[in-house]
Amino acid sequence: MLLWHTLAAYFRRKYGYRVQKIPLDANASCPNRDGTLNTHGCVFCNTKGAGSGLAEKGISLESQWKYWQHKYLTTDANRAFMAYLQSFSNTYCTAEHLAQLLQRISALPNCMGISIGTRPDCLDSRKLELIASLPLPEVWLELGLQSCHETTLTRINRHHSAACAEQTIHSAASYGIKICGHLMAGLPDEDEQMFQESVLWAVSLPIAGIKLHNVYVPEGSTLGKQYLQKKYLPLSSDEYVNMLCNALPHIPSSIVMHRLTGDPSPQELLAPAWAANKRALITEIHRAMSARKLWQGCKADVPEKRPLWYGG
Ligand code: SF4
Repeated sequence: MLLWHTLAAYFRRKYGYRVQKIPLDANASCPNRDGTLNTHGCVFCNTKGAGSGLAEKGISLESQWKYWQHKYLTTDANRAFMAYLQSFSNTYCTAEHLAQLLQRISALPNCMGISIGTRPDCLDSRKLELIASLPLPEVWLELGLQSCHETTLTRINRHHSAACAEQTIHSAASYGIKICGHLMAGLPDEDEQMFQESVLWAVSLPIAGIKLHNVYVPEGSTLGKQYLQKKYLPLSSDEYVNMLCNALPHIPSSIVMHRLTGDPSPQELLAPAWAANKRALITEIHRAMSARKLWQGCKADVPEKRPLWYGG
């Protein structure tokens, strides 16, 4: 019995079949890395920018798509696919470049959607128009928000404000684009109350989805150095589970929880080790929510009982 509105449930309810996101590396860059804003990047990011590095190796988007599609179809032929531009900031380019990139993605065989990961300060009305006019049934914009607290945004070296994030979310929503906001738990110098405030802030905005995860420490990041110098201590698994048990009840049932776990590369993960075991973490979140008789939205729009369409 699922206790929150998963992305799988959203797709199943809307289309009646499973949709697999395929991560694509489009060789994007980031203004927080190339010197436009800064060269160090966010403290939790390393030079790979959460990417596979496949584009740098000369592997085209089309080849990446073909490889992953084939791999997934061997385990389950009954699924559709959408592209996920995950690495770096995928709208940090000219509108012309973005138009070409989106055209290539729309032309990928059996591609029914796209999810575009980027920063709130890398979008303008021309780019939003391009995204909104994509001829695909599923179009999502994944925005790194991380926190509503300016002190934290400065501390983690984001180089954009919460006001900038709010403005971009309102603009994108006015174009009818679905937004998934990313927030992190356990950011440096943040306590649980600050995390809960960020969650409430995010759900007060016109977003359709949220991705939550604990901060993990990748090798080669600024946070990695701070961790090795014992200046940063990651959350324990119990602390993170507890934070989710307190946050999910306040998130309205309509908001799709794209993920509750991070996706660290096992080769790069310095800490915490438990972040690598996503399945165990999801099981533990379910167990803790169930023991406390909680579900997403039980303190928001669905206090009586868990919506059946959460599934499970
Ligand atoms: S905005 Fe994204 S890609 Fe850029 S430095 Fe921060 S985490 Fe890395």
